Amino acid sequence: MTQNEFRLLPDVTPETEHFWRGGAHGELRILRCSACRTFIHPPAPVCPECLGRDLAPEAVSGRGTVATFTVNHQRWNPTVPVPYVIALVEIDEQPSVRIMTNIVGCEPDDVRIGMRVRVTFAEREDVFLPLFEPDA
Ligand SMILES: [Zn+2]
Repeated sequence: MTQNEFRLLPDVTPETEHFWRGGAHGELRILRCSACRTFIHPPAPVCPECLGRDLAPEAVSGRGTVATFTVNHQRWNPTVPVPYVIALVEIDEQPSVRIMTNIVGCEPDDVRIGMRVRVTFAEREDVFLPLFEPDA
């Protein structure tokens, strides 16, 4: 078991497939409005900025900053090792886009608000979970 095994797999829908499977191409893909260029996450059918409906996934750099986090010490699932970090990561392209994720590749005690991170993907069945690790 790796430190990522605790994640429950998401329901992949046509609206979220780009996000959960972009990792197959090594890309973090976020829905973007073609009219005003706003990134939209979680995916929605209409742009919240301009109400545009011409939205398409676009690859972002995968780099971002830890906006907030918590360290989970509770063993909710007996097969899941603790502790682990649950975080909101702001993407560089648009800090209002915050991705709920886990920070991996370092000790939970080393995670800080404002820490620079980059995406890494954990392949589970047909899903590529976007996780983040320290950006050295
Ligand atoms: Zn828009």
